[in-house]
Amino acid sequence: MAIYEMRKADKAGTVFTTKDTYYNKEYAEQYMPMYLEGHIGVDENGRHRNRYRLHSEKPFTIEAALALDINCPKCGSRRKQIGRCLNAHDLGLYKCPACDKN
Ligand SMILES: [Zn+2]
Repeated sequence: MAIYEMRKADKAGTVFTTKDTYYNKEYAEQYMPMYLEGHIGVDENGRHRNRYRLHSEKPFTIEAALALDINCPKCGSRRKQIGRCLNAHDLGLYKCPACDKN
């Protein structure tokens, strides 16, 4: 699973840009306060698509997690949350509508 680094892109800390890394999940869990984990999902037409799960070491409420804006590591577009938070650390599942069009 690919791990993506998150960087704050505004003062309030709710907008993030993301970037590819070569880290594995063990490293991410230990050293990265927030990261995205890539998954392969299937869309409504049965095509394989990139999906991203947000993880945070600091606990988040569902409302606080929903307020986050996360940009796509591939194209930089704003991503859309498509799956709910699993718990306070394993947060929403995201997709990129722009990348899904290709
Ligand atoms: Zn994208």
